[in-house]
Amino acid sequence: MAAIILDGVKIASEIRAEVAGEVKIMTAAGLRPGLAVVLAGHNPASEIYVRGKVKSCDELGIYSEKHTPPDTVTTDELLELVNDLNRRDEIDGILVQLPLPAHVDTKKVLMAVDPAKDVDGFHPVNVGFLSTQRPGLVPCTPAGVVEILKRRNIPIAGQEAVVVGRSDIVGKPVAMLLLNGNATVTVCHSKTRDLPAVCRRADILVAAIGRAGMITLDYIKLDATVIDVGMNQVTERAEFERLFAGNAKREESFRRKGSTLVGDVHPEVAQVAGALTPVPGGVGPLTIAMLMSNTVKAAKLRRGSRMVEFSGR
Ligand code: NAP
Repeated sequence: MAAIILDGVKIASEIRAEVAGEVKIMTAAGLRPGLAVVLAGHNPASEIYVRGKVKSCDELGIYSEKHTPPDTVTTDELLELVNDLNRRDEIDGILVQLPLPAHVDTKKVLMAVDPAKDVDGFHPVNVGFLSTQRPGLVPCTPAGVVEILKRRNIPIAGQEAVVVGRSDIVGKPVAMLLLNGNATVTVCHSKTRDLPAVCRRADILVAAIGRAGMITLDYIKLDATVIDVGMNQVTERAEFERLFAGNAKREESFRRKGSTLVGDVHPEVAQVAGALTPVPGGVGPLTIAMLMSNTVKAAKLRRGSRMVEFSGR
């Protein structure tokens, strides 16, 4: 039987509706959540991402502002901007869009963000909160992965979870969230021996690798839940054929655009998995939804005592 498709667009819209409701209540109480986005220099992909984030804020009623220093901005100038945003009470979240221009000390800038406003959840203070199960800000994509499981009633506690990828922004926080949810977690990476065998143990398999369609049928236990975080552009015809031979819809869009977006999981996995996130339309839409949710959460954690309504989210 073909896998149940876990529709990320639908789950993201559920979260967005909830966030919009909370924003309305907070705004009525005079505490409208606010997000500041820092987009340094000119990077077309970053500009698209930031546009999406600002648009999302507008749609949900969150105040947002965009800071766009030029390519020539120095580390010190960015530190000054971040410190200014740290001081402003009406700014609850600060998002520094990466990559920063090459000459900028990225780590120094990210470390300067007040952990209470770190809506990306990358600051070591928030990493520490996550690993010690204290209230804090969790990275958006990993939080989205867990929301998909929870909202579609896929059990986590007691399950064998395998995460392929150990990056600070995806693999490690996903693994920590699953561990906090009482799964038995194995984290794999490029040096893992016999990766297919380890993956076949998984009731929940999370792929966060960055390799188009690497996870094939022989990595999957029958009926496993497979969460595909990967986002890879395929432009080569041979690679396209390996992944999508006979898929008329993909073929048409590949011809039109010269590329297609594919995850780390081969589409054939749908034949044996119990549930699967598609790419596009799986984990991707959750990332911005969780950023919005994190902005509200940051406002509540920081200004909670001043709020009329506090749902403890
Ligand atoms: P990353 O920093 O490059 O990390 C990739 C991880 O995969 C590393 O831990 C690496 O192992 C491991 N890996 C690479 N090749 C492997 C192999 N052959 N076998 C086993 N493990 C292997 O990537 P990332 O930032 O975590 O992103 C992962 C993917 O998620 C990318 O496709 C990215 O575009 C996507 N992503 C999507 C979203 C979204 O919103 N949907 C957000 C963020 C990222 P080592 O540590 O040993 O090198």
